[in-house]
Amino acid sequence: MVSQAQILQWLQAYATEIEQNKAYLTELDAAIGDADHGINMDRGFKKVSAQLPTLTDKDIGNILKTVSMTLISSIGGASGPLYGTWFLRASTAVLGKQELTAQDVLGLLQAGLDGVLQRGKAQLGDKTMVDVLFPAVAAFRQTVGENKGIVEAMQESVAAAQNGLLKTIPMQAKKGRASYLGERSIGHQDPGGTSAYLMLKSLLGVLESSGE
Ligand code: ADP
Ligand code: MG
Repeated sequence: MVSQAQILQWLQAYATEIEQNKAYLTELDAAIGDADHGINMDRGFKKVSAQLPTLTDKDIGNILKTVSMTLISSIGGASGPLYGTWFLRASTAVLGKQELTAQDVLGLLQAGLDGVLQRGKAQLGDKTMVDVLFPAVAAFRQTVGENKGIVEAMQESVAAAQNGLLKTIPMQAKKGRASYLGERSIGHQDPGGTSAYLMLKSLLGVLESSGE
């Protein structure tokens, strides 16, 4: 099970990870975008971080919904609505829950991905966060289907996310600002894919440190 407290820890861990990688994410976006991805994400997750202490008595669905609203109202660019949608859809998959089973986590990850796919209309191979989120959900589903626990499923998910992230390097961007560069987008790692990988890695870190 993943507890409500672990979800709050995850959000704090991700906010810290974003802060520590702010310059790196912005550098990645400088190569193929407008050099604001780290700044955008850090602005949003600093707000989330400040809000977390007010959410300690809320259920997981409620927490994720509040995060969504905060991100939508504070992050500009493409990533604000996309992460806002990811958290909004994730929240509706776990409404009213105080803890999550492996199936719940799968439902959350799938719903978040579906939201991003519907909102951004990117396909696999377009060099976006979808290239990270999609294989991550597939690996989680497969591992849970083999009756393994949540931690192992998340380990496989993060490994698949990392693999998907590296695969964005040789891709030519087909969506977002990077697509304006055409072939010149080839050879660079996708910034939004990188922040999506960090999001999943932060969740794994919390699950592993809780010794589940
Ligand atoms: P902007 O491109 O508006 O400056 P950011 O720099 O914050 O926004 O975010 C860029 C990231 O957003 C990209 O690296 C990519 O992963 C993601 N992205 C852009 N467009 C889409 C889309 N249509 N679907 C999914 N992800 C997208
Ligand atoms: Mg940008």
